[in-house]
Amino acid sequence: GLSLKNVSHEFGNTRVLRDINVDVAPGELVCLLGPSGCGKTTALRIAAGLERLQTGSVLIHDEVVASAGQYLEPEKRGVGLVFQDYALFPHLDVAGNIGFGLRHMAADDRRKAVVNALERVGMVDYIDAFPHQLSGGQQQRVALARALAPVPRVMLLDEPFSGLDVARRAELRDTTLHVLKNAGIATVMVTHDPEEAMYMGDRIIVMNEGQVMQDGTPEELYFHPANHFVASFFGEVN
Ligand code: ATP
Repeated sequence: GLSLKNVSHEFGNTRVLRDINVDVAPGELVCLLGPSGCGKTTALRIAAGLERLQTGSVLIHDEVVASAGQYLEPEKRGVGLVFQDYALFPHLDVAGNIGFGLRHMAADDRRKAVVNALERVGMVDYIDAFPHQLSGGQQQRVALARALAPVPRVMLLDEPFSGLDVARRAELRDTTLHVLKNAGIATVMVTHDPEEAMYMGDRIIVMNEGQVMQDGTPEELYFHPANHFVASFFGEVN
């Protein structure tokens, strides 16, 4: 699982995270939900090690990967990332994109792992395609396969369905849930869409201005909002 414990963060003099706690068990999907600028992406980048932790600690499978004076590089954390700004390598085909993170494996094992990851997201027919030959939804499927192939301990998804039309988004939500649940991976997904969080999340952590407003199941948040902010956020869902 993944834990962020008492994490605070500042950019210059601006506090973007104020003592947040996030706990995700293996096989659980937790959504970080909140308006633009509330600190969701920063929390995810700190978990991944892409942003240096300032205050608090990050644990993966009970191992401290970041704390005061301790920092494990992103590649050594066993995290899979599907970020908007983590696009596919345009000059590599699908096999090359997924194989890139498996360079340590022997060629035939690597090929098997690539095919296996593509099968799980329904994209094995596109193994020789280049990113520009794929639709946005297909590229996101490949990005998911790329993140899954090294068998991560934790999966971090940042608005993975943005830019997709409604039908593609619905398809990819279901594929993502199916694949991650089957693999038993602890997942954090960032979204600003309450409806998406209700559909995807075992739990939802609602954030505003760098603070956790509430942490609970979709039902708890919907029927028993802890404050006006949470209530008004979910008032938009019908
Ligand atoms: P969005 O949904 O729009 O991506 P978010 O909730 O993910 O928003 P963050 O991207 O974490 O929010 O940003 C939180 C705040 O920190 C914002 O005010 C943003 O402008 C600021 N910020 C983020 N990264 C940096 C940086 N590298 N340097 C300075 N300020 C930053």
